[in-house]
Amino acid sequence: MTTSDVLIIGAGAAGLFCAGVCQQLGLKVVLLDHYPKVAEKIRISGGGRSNFTNILMDASQPHRHFLGENPAFARSALVRYTAQDFVSLMNQHGVAYHEKHKGQLFCDHSSQDLIDMLIKECQSGSKGGELLHWQPCALHALTHHDSSDADPHYLAQTDRGPVQTRAVVVATGGLSIPAIGATDLGFRLATQFGLRVVTPRPALVALTFEAQSWKKFSGLSGLSLPVSIKTTQGKQSTVFEEDLLLTHKGLSGPAALQISSFWAPEQSLTIDWLPGQDLGSDLVALKQHSKKLLGNELAAWLPNRLVQAWLEDQPQWHKAINDTPDKSLAALAQSLKSCFLKPNGTEGYKKAEVTAGGVSVSELSQQTLESKKQPGLYFIGEVVDITGWLGGYNFQWAWSSAHACAKGLASRLNKL
Ligand SMILES: Cc1cc2nc3c(=O)[nH]c(=O)nc-3n(C[C@H](O)[C@H](O)[C@H](O)COP(=O)(O)OP(=O)(O)OC[C@H]3O[C@@H](n4cnc5c(N)ncnc54)[C@H](O)[C@@H]3O)c2cc1C
Repeated sequence: MTTSDVLIIGAGAAGLFCAGVCQQLGLKVVLLDHYPKVAEKIRISGGGRSNFTNILMDASQPHRHFLGENPAFARSALVRYTAQDFVSLMNQHGVAYHEKHKGQLFCDHSSQDLIDMLIKECQSGSKGGELLHWQPCALHALTHHDSSDADPHYLAQTDRGPVQTRAVVVATGGLSIPAIGATDLGFRLATQFGLRVVTPRPALVALTFEAQSWKKFSGLSGLSLPVSIKTTQGKQSTVFEEDLLLTHKGLSGPAALQISSFWAPEQSLTIDWLPGQDLGSDLVALKQHSKKLLGNELAAWLPNRLVQAWLEDQPQWHKAINDTPDKSLAALAQSLKSCFLKPNGTEGYKKAEVTAGGVSVSELSQQTLESKKQPGLYFIGEVVDITGWLGGYNFQWAWSSAHACAKGLASRLNKL
């Protein structure tokens, strides 16, 4: 029988980081993961260079970059272990990085640098901590024992034999990309111990359309352009200004991924193909001195392929601009500034970058991520109902929640 202070299930971003901090705080840790490769999701993230945090994040206002039933829950962990803290760790290890777009930090060389750093963090420490890293290793059962003849503890049955442990951290992530190890184990453990799980759904994912309604755009596959994209639920509208990528099945690129986290089935999206431009007024003004075809004028502002698709089957717009009635120009401007599109779904967990929903934050301590009703059981990272926007926020939540949990564990187990 192996004994430990803490058993961490899942050696992804949150689990691996938590293991390192716990070990450095003097705890005896068993870290297990059923997938043969360590932190595979980090490896494939950010196009192989991991967008590992966002330095523009305002940790005190999580609702600006996170969603879930109560994004404010994330504040405590985000404020105590910030993007700057993680950047300092990268600097300490000499891992090179750069800022790409809107505060997003990426590794210069490869995600592997980040994984190597997290593994090194698991090996350093002077407080007598220990770390057993079992991978691949499956968990078969987890039970809690609380009787008068022994201290309360958990018993885990694993591929490598039983583990008796004082605390358990569930860091199994969400359901996205099952091909690299994602499972619903975290949600099943939460349910087993009586914790509520907010229904999971794919997020940061490409949107698909019914073939007939996508016909107009299917020939534009590969086209990318900046747009404003909006979805509305009740009185609440969410808008992103980002690049949109047209694919043969639907919409992808940052604009589609961001809005997908807020989109619900049956809702339409409103796309403004020329954000920041008063197209109606511009067309009327142009009409005063131009005799060019309307399509040629539009092509100064939009990719020609999109213009051709837009004007196809619309003979009223196949004219010189000075011959086009104002009403017709206004209708064209309206169609481009408020284009309604109704997705029929998403590309699902196979392609989604994250899973929204998860273990309800109402069940967890904001300070330590420990279950309120099941002492010694913790949930960190993506398995929790906290989902970041695109841009490094999901990794920062993994680091911050892992750090808060490790500190909480060390305090609970009298190591602080
Ligand atoms: C393609 C892609 C690109 C991404 N790019 C970015 C990015 O650039 N920036 C960003 O912030 N976020 C990005 N994300 C999201 C980010 O990777 C996750 O939010 C983050 O990895 C979550 O960390 P986690 O530790 O909670 O879960 P994970 O990193 O998913 O780790 C969970 C671990 O648990 C293990 N596990 C699962 N089930 C079991 C089981 N039954 N038994 C044992 N072990 C189990 C898994 O094998 C895995 O190792 C991306 C995601 C994807 C899919």
